[in-house]
Amino acid sequence: MNDHLQIKDWGLGIEGHVIIAGPCSAETPQQIEQICLDMKKENMVPDMFRAGIWKPRTRPGAFEGIGEDGLKWMEIVRHHLNIPITTEVGNAAHAELALKHKVDVVWIGARTTVNPFAVQEIAEALRGTDIPVMIKNPMNPDLQLWIGALERMHAVGLKKLAAIHRGFSDSYDKRFRNKPNWSMPIHLKREWKGMEVINDPSHIVGNREGILETAQRAINFGLDGLMIETHHDPDKAWSDAKQQVTPARLKEILSQIDFKDTLGAEQPSERLNDLRTAIDHLDDQLLDILQERFSLIDQVGAYKRENHLTVFQSDRWKYVMESRTQKGIAKNLSEKFMKELLYCIHEESVKRQEKQLREADPVKK
Ligand code: PEP
Ligand code: MN
Repeated sequence: MNDHLQIKDWGLGIEGHVIIAGPCSAETPQQIEQICLDMKKENMVPDMFRAGIWKPRTRPGAFEGIGEDGLKWMEIVRHHLNIPITTEVGNAAHAELALKHKVDVVWIGARTTVNPFAVQEIAEALRGTDIPVMIKNPMNPDLQLWIGALERMHAVGLKKLAAIHRGFSDSYDKRFRNKPNWSMPIHLKREWKGMEVINDPSHIVGNREGILETAQRAINFGLDGLMIETHHDPDKAWSDAKQQVTPARLKEILSQIDFKDTLGAEQPSERLNDLRTAIDHLDDQLLDILQERFSLIDQVGAYKRENHLTVFQSDRWKYVMESRTQKGIAKNLSEKFMKELLYCIHEESVKRQEKQLREADPVKK
């Protein structure tokens, strides 16, 4: 699995953090040309030009993409900017048309990555070529599904692979259109050594204002590039109008990002090593304490069973939640963190005690 080719080896002349920019959707030849001209005017030519040709929309009736005609307009981009072009493919027919029109790189969107049938169908359509493929994370935070889609491409011989973190659907957190989960790309990079992950702050934030901050965070976390939706007249865009930026604004955003400020540096300083060692020790202690706590939980479970008490006792739970949360707050831990932590420990405790009960009385299984 580690024989995939990194972006610098895709033969596209890209080095360092990759910058992908272009509109959410290709709309008209004039729109594509104007974006290219503005990029050129601003001296803001990205490493790759993106444009959606087929748009997966949540509700029917919205603009669903211009279709194959849009692929022909990519010649305009080649003429003005002479950079590689990338588009989203959602099924085998899209993949075949992208190949026919010599699209340089394809990506698989979040709504497609969740569907292994569709991903496999696209992999089969691309078999025998060496087109680079970028896989956006699935809508839901399922690392295995994300890796699985990369593996399906790899299994048909596609070696030029990368991933894109575009956040996850979350109806509770209104700060984001798609909430980022930074541990997910970091885990992906750990599980698949050398796999590069590009960040898509546009779809994470869903507005223009938050793009810089999210992009900087991505770079700090060691991500390998940015895909930012760019349009000459964002307010008039046919899709995702709120989150697109002009080439001039893109230039400003990129000039403000510190591309060297990476937490995942290859050679951590001695000081950082010391701190990490101290954290390792503390984590060992944390695990020992958890082990001890669960062993006490098991003893409480045995007592409840012998005395025919229910596993879940709401008064006790209420007391544990409230008292610990207050103690945590006094130690400068947030209320939300305390509640989530306690809930997680409690859930595991109940599960263990229920298991004990089932094993003692198999009829209740
Ligand atoms: C897009 O890039 O325009 C898009 C539809 O992205 P996603 O699959 O991340 O929603
Ligand atoms: Mn979009």
